[in-house]
Amino acid sequence: MYEITRKSFLSTSVVVLAGCCSRAVETVIEPATGSVELGYLARLYSMQISRIAERKIRLQNQYNTLDVEERGRRVWINGIMVWLNFSTEGSGEKCKISAADFNKNIDPILRSAGYLKREMPRIIVLDPGHGGKDPGTRGPSKLQEKTVVLDIAKRTQKLLESRGFTVYLTRTGDTYPELSERTAFAARVKADLFVSIHVNAAGASVSGIETFVTTVEGARNTSGEETDKEAYLNNRFDASNSLLGYLLQNNLIKAAERSDRGLKRARYSVIRNAPCPAALVECGFLSNPSEEELLNSAAYRHKLAVGIGNAVLGYSTLVKKAK
Ligand SMILES: [Zn+2]
Repeated sequence: MYEITRKSFLSTSVVVLAGCCSRAVETVIEPATGSVELGYLARLYSMQISRIAERKIRLQNQYNTLDVEERGRRVWINGIMVWLNFSTEGSGEKCKISAADFNKNIDPILRSAGYLKREMPRIIVLDPGHGGKDPGTRGPSKLQEKTVVLDIAKRTQKLLESRGFTVYLTRTGDTYPELSERTAFAARVKADLFVSIHVNAAGASVSGIETFVTTVEGARNTSGEETDKEAYLNNRFDASNSLLGYLLQNNLIKAAERSDRGLKRARYSVIRNAPCPAALVECGFLSNPSEEELLNSAAYRHKLAVGIGNAVLGYSTLVKKAK
């Protein structure tokens, strides 16, 4: 059953970003120049700068907070963890963020208006991972990833259709489309946004939600893999990917109330070959008995669907604002 009323969808508020900086983006730094210093960012965003921990600097104004890890690969934008493509260098006001992370990661999230295409996203492709011969991961009580993610995708579809989006699933039953067929399908239906839905596996005590977007050219994946650093089709959407990924991670964490493992970077083929802004969400760990129990509950899967739906709604709200 997927009876979802309009009311239930609206009961969780959509998390978007404050429109503090709707002016045109005046600062695009060519990668050749390397990096930007936090002191410069503080002036650009009219933010106060302060040290909040031994290796953490906070930039803050009335709308947004940006916490930066010195000599590390993480920032927190309004409390949500975002992994950088490259490590920061130096400390304090002189701490440097790479130009690639400024232009394709942080600035598109904080000042989305300058980066978004003006056309409203209308066609959404949801990709329930695995299926058919490929069950994906399996929990200690034998709950299968392919079943969980198909249900989340169908619920998200209902929610988004009720808000006027056209939504396609790459599979609607227990079948296995090849990964290349999934991205080809998105191209065929002229998808505006693509979201691949998965659940995770690791040790029994690992928990939480993470979202992946395609790693930028020349950078290592968040996992640290050194190889395969070239650009892929989806890299033309680096800035929009970051915004979509951030909104997914933020709205999923708020809707499901699970721990935040961050917006990460990887070159999974189903996102790196996607013909539009794309992200892959890992909605929790089936290998963790308590998260398996949650994922086995329709009410919890509905929360996850609300999180994904709200992210898409938030993205289109920001496009509307950017017009
Ligand atoms: Zn999976």
